[in-house]
Amino acid sequence: MPSIAGGLFSAGRGISWLRLRRLQRPLLSSLSAGGGSDAPHLPVVIVGAGPVGLALSFLLAKFGIKCTVLERSMEFTRHPRAHFINNRTMEIFRKFDGLAGDIERAQPPVDLWRKFIYCTSLSGSILGSVDHMKQEDFDKVVSPISVAHFSQYKLVDLLLKKLDGVGFQTCFPDELGGSSAQDLLLENKILMGHECSSIELTDDGILVGASFNNGGRMQERKLHCGLLLGADGARSKVRELAGISMKGERDLQQLVSVHFVSRDLGKYLSSERPGMLFFIFNPDAIGVLVAHDLEHGEFVLQVPFYPPQQMFEDFSAKVCEQIIVKLVGWEPADIQVLDIKPWAMHAEVAEKYVGCDNRVILVGDAAHRFPPAGGFGMNTGVQDAHNLAWKLCLLLNGIADPSIIQTYESERKPVRFFLHAFCSFNVATFNTELSLENFKAAMSIPATLGLDPTIANSVHRVINSSLGSIIPRNLQKVVLEGLFSIGRTQVSDYILSENNPLGSLRLARLRSILDEGKSLQLQFPAEDLGFRYGKGALVAEDCAESTYQAEDLKHSKRSSGEYIPSAKVGSRLPHMLVRPLSASSEGVFSTLDLVSGDKIEFVIIIAPLKESYKLAQAMLRIADEFELSSKVCVMWPQGSRDVEAKGSISELAPWTNYVDVEEIPRATVNSSWWEMYQVSNRSVILVRPDEHIAWRTEPDMVRDAYSDVRRVFSQILSLNRPQV
Ligand SMILES: Cc1cc2nc3c(=O)[nH]c(=O)nc-3n(C[C@H](O)[C@H](O)[C@H](O)COP(=O)(O)OP(=O)(O)OC[C@H]3O[C@@H](n4cnc5c(N)ncnc54)[C@H](O)[C@@H]3O)c2cc1C
Repeated sequence: MPSIAGGLFSAGRGISWLRLRRLQRPLLSSLSAGGGSDAPHLPVVIVGAGPVGLALSFLLAKFGIKCTVLERSMEFTRHPRAHFINNRTMEIFRKFDGLAGDIERAQPPVDLWRKFIYCTSLSGSILGSVDHMKQEDFDKVVSPISVAHFSQYKLVDLLLKKLDGVGFQTCFPDELGGSSAQDLLLENKILMGHECSSIELTDDGILVGASFNNGGRMQERKLHCGLLLGADGARSKVRELAGISMKGERDLQQLVSVHFVSRDLGKYLSSERPGMLFFIFNPDAIGVLVAHDLEHGEFVLQVPFYPPQQMFEDFSAKVCEQIIVKLVGWEPADIQVLDIKPWAMHAEVAEKYVGCDNRVILVGDAAHRFPPAGGFGMNTGVQDAHNLAWKLCLLLNGIADPSIIQTYESERKPVRFFLHAFCSFNVATFNTELSLENFKAAMSIPATLGLDPTIANSVHRVINSSLGSIIPRNLQKVVLEGLFSIGRTQVSDYILSENNPLGSLRLARLRSILDEGKSLQLQFPAEDLGFRYGKGALVAEDCAESTYQAEDLKHSKRSSGEYIPSAKVGSRLPHMLVRPLSASSEGVFSTLDLVSGDKIEFVIIIAPLKESYKLAQAMLRIADEFELSSKVCVMWPQGSRDVEAKGSISELAPWTNYVDVEEIPRATVNSSWWEMYQVSNRSVILVRPDEHIAWRTEPDMVRDAYSDVRRVFSQILSLNRPQV
């Protein structure tokens, strides 16, 4: 990533009213490290070293916040779960010391995973297939990076390397000695084999109990921290200890997940029918195969599971191998089953994300659990972490009020999606609904083929409720399997043939579902990049009515699932390539790179207009007052490079924390950045450290620049909100 201009303006720093007020806040001072002898020694403890806990610890470590991670397992799981990394998460990972680039290099070639394939077996008839990549994904039109396909455990390995790079270590109980290790020795460490088992709210923090096995003896370590972040997954203990309940639908479907390798199968599929997901329906077996890595022959098979008639123990490695062979259609000689796990699909969101007097915060699956359809789980969790990290950093440095934590909940739970001008959705709830819709879309294909899973689930429920108490379980199992095998005859070659009137009707319906894009989708551009925060660490706009009208017009496009970039408050800063204006700086980069990934910094975007410069000066001054790092980006029209060699020096002096950039519109779209995002070039845009727009105004809407800007920063930092 190119480094861009701008040393911090150092003169005139240090208005002390904020610092004075800070000293008066007992909660805040206890959250900051230090304090009296009973004060918490650790600013932050994170429970759970899954992708979300690790992403959060990386961001905090990078921003200089010391934290400790508790992980109950002694090793990181190798069972791959997530594999699809969406566009926004990849953008975030670009700033994780090049993590996105590492993923791009390590992932399988895109041609091996861009399709979903529907077939009767991996070597049998292909009923249909859908290519989920478009030319825009390769052209990087709306983002400087594209989506990725990379197994969760490999991502965890890369995150651990990045953590190592910022001084984080992984420690085992025998390396730490007994339970008396000083809290300070635990900073920036992942404590493996440590299970969070209790929490106790103290006057100035949280006392966390973590049990661990020390040479065969169970012991408990107590850690006193200011904030406890629950990143401990779907069955979160932290959530339970904080008394936060979940709302939504439970047990939508039970499945068994079989992780296996077969290079023979990988080689065959790579050459014959490469794809990411294979939906396989035949009279002997039904399953969804996720090709995690065709080149290395690594797969996960998901098969429906109906307990209590079916027992998890029924799925031995041998049985799983037999199911795999039935789905493949021939017998790969080298199948090796590595792991088998049962799991249940839920669609639930935590009632609240923040509890225990703002001291316990839930992130990732601890806060929401979605059906995997659409790949929202981990992506939403990483984005939670990104939303939270800069706020925690400003809080722990005494710059923001503790109530800023509430804006994490109000943004990540309720968010405005630009589906309709003023209709609001809930990020987690919306993603839950989207996953549910997607799950239903996935089910539409088997239903069309006469294999309606809802019927299977109803049959299962009927057996559970009516036969459950009358006939023995092994007999129930025979009845259930008998009914299911009768059901599976619907996908026999005899029925599913163009010569069979019913079969040809079903095949035609299936093709039309696929052609109309009504089957399971992989990408959701409108939601992935287009989600927008409505209420939180931001300020409603003071803009001309015409801007709103222009954005209203976009509504119809948005409802088609297309991403419509917006420079409206709450949106992610729209991407465009820009180039530094100064002759000495070379290189082209994205507008997203104007926001630093290495420090907490606000960016003020203006066009080179007299009034905008004046307002930007006021913003720099007030940011300085608040002890916030900030920078101005002056967006010059294309072609300014030679003409305006001096850039903004005369307008912004004595400030040096600015960068002049020249727009590089795409060849096909000859519009400026302002025109493309349908805002006037008189706009002054304040971008937060997480690349979301915090405020947009126009100079003539501002009455008293200094007091208006002071009000804006106070609102973003929650300094004028009532304490919660
Ligand atoms: C089949 C499947 C496919 C999926 N595909 C995708 C996909 O393509 N894209 C996507 O975005 N998402 C996907 N998901 C969802 C994704 O796997 C999860 O959303 C993700 O793992 C959540 O990460 P997390 O860090 O919040 O929780 P987890 O990964 O569950 O990590 C929680 C960690 O906390 C630890 N822990 C738990 N309790 C304690 C305790 N008391 N003390 C200490 N440590 C504790 C656990 O050992 C674990 O390491 C999929 C899920 C499944 C099941």
